[in-house]
Amino acid sequence: MDTEVLIVGAGPTGLTLANELRLADVPVVLVDKLSQRSTLSKAGGVQSRTQQAFDQRGLLEPLLATGNHPIGTAHFAGVTLALTRDRHRYPWRSIPQVVIEGFLEEHLAAQDLHVRRGHELTGLAQDGDGVTATFASGAVVRSRYLVAADGGHSTVRSLLKAEFLGRPGTMTTVAADVRLDGCEQPMTHARSEDGHWVSLFPLGTDPQGRPLHRLALGGPGRSLPREVPVTEDEIRDGLRAVFGSQVRLLELRYARRITNAALQAAKYRHGRVFLAGDAAHVHLPLGAQGMNTGIQDALNLGWKLAAAVHGWAPGHLLDTYHAERHPVAAAVLHNVQAQSLLMDLQGTRDPDLMAFKELFTALTQLPAVQYHLDDMLSGMGIRYPMPGAEGQSLVGLPAPDHDLGSTRSHELLRRGRGVLIDPDDRFADVAAPWQDRVDRTGQGADAEPMLIRPDGYVCWAGKPDDLEPALGHWFGEPR
Ligand SMILES: Cc1cc2nc3c(=O)[nH]c(=O)nc-3n(C[C@H](O)[C@H](O)[C@H](O)COP(=O)(O)OP(=O)(O)OC[C@H]3O[C@@H](n4cnc5c(N)ncnc54)[C@H](O)[C@@H]3O)c2cc1C
Repeated sequence: MDTEVLIVGAGPTGLTLANELRLADVPVVLVDKLSQRSTLSKAGGVQSRTQQAFDQRGLLEPLLATGNHPIGTAHFAGVTLALTRDRHRYPWRSIPQVVIEGFLEEHLAAQDLHVRRGHELTGLAQDGDGVTATFASGAVVRSRYLVAADGGHSTVRSLLKAEFLGRPGTMTTVAADVRLDGCEQPMTHARSEDGHWVSLFPLGTDPQGRPLHRLALGGPGRSLPREVPVTEDEIRDGLRAVFGSQVRLLELRYARRITNAALQAAKYRHGRVFLAGDAAHVHLPLGAQGMNTGIQDALNLGWKLAAAVHGWAPGHLLDTYHAERHPVAAAVLHNVQAQSLLMDLQGTRDPDLMAFKELFTALTQLPAVQYHLDDMLSGMGIRYPMPGAEGQSLVGLPAPDHDLGSTRSHELLRRGRGVLIDPDDRFADVAAPWQDRVDRTGQGADAEPMLIRPDGYVCWAGKPDDLEPALGHWFGEPR
């Protein structure tokens, strides 16, 4: 083998996974076809669960120190979820994807793992022992596992002939990062009587302190093929159609056309090959979910692959990646399709649709509705289907951050191992055979006993008798 895990694609998904595998001492090669890191801004919104996961690895503080990354408010179909603003310890933040990618790549480089750039994967074959990847350059890499983090147009997915199911794109819209004059509102969705629309989301400021916006626009005659370059005139024209002379384009920093495709791989695992991030699911960027879902795919898969490489993964562990992450992205696609429809209703003159829109808008002012939507978008409401999850308050959910006196339980996850919180010091004997994989801690703390997986999810918090089976289920045979 040339390496244990070959990761194809150094976007946020591949970079997160490489960091996870590095933390677990797994030999890994990370390749990208681009000869330089992309400078194109795509994602901007970073959800609570992603920030929490970065904090559990000690990466959040240094990431936030890279610049001014303002706290914002999550929104659903353009409706600000203002009541959820102070709900989480890690509030919704605007951090450009390029900053996250740069940060993760530098963190890897500091550990002597460098992205091998200019390597485009073109071929793939797998057998019982491993995967053989071939590259446009003629290079060949043999690995035990391969992870496709190569984006929405994944070559790996095509080579596998993996089913990619759902609704193909039926139209395109323009997405751009702009500096505007006359845009006072932080977030706007406006539509002209003849159906042209513009959405504006704040993106923080440029180095000179001037406000930037993410703009999306569309309308009659504006759905052009993805390959047609977006022009400044097109954006000026779109702004004029909706705002007249009130809002003017000062600077176009970056633009692309995006489709409304909503597609998901039927299987995330194909033998020794795994699909993650946009390679596994694509959808319109509504509600800031794509990058966040990809990063969380990587966090879910990383420790499981590490367990397999180190030889202690129980037989079912790698399959839980699909079982846990496929429903999460399916739910994202579902809510994005609903958001897309609701966005289309903005500015409608149809009395029936207006009645529906008004009713929906009134509902979104209810705290329970805002919390429900926030659970969906923030990732904090994700509950993995695990043994013991039924009827338990915590199993399957992101672990709470307990104050353990000199430390916090989230800090203990920085080693990338399991954590058993044992406040009454009752489980030393039970946990001893797993001590090379699970840290037992929290004696004397005012906390509930629980077992936390390396990715930060509670996998036991129940009856004492269930702890040993849970350790075996998630951490393999006792030593
Ligand atoms: C306008 C816009 C706004 C968005 N806003 C948000 C947001 O606010 N929040 C959010 O969570 N998401 C957002 N998204 C979605 C987010 O950008 C994507 O979900 C994210 O980039 C997916 O990351 P990834 O690592 O899976 O794939 P990508 O970022 O696409 O990375 C794939 C990498 O694989 C490489 N690659 C491709 N093919 C090969 C090959 N054959 N060989 C080697 N390398 C290869 C590519 O060069 C690339 O670097 C937005 C997207 C757009 C377009």
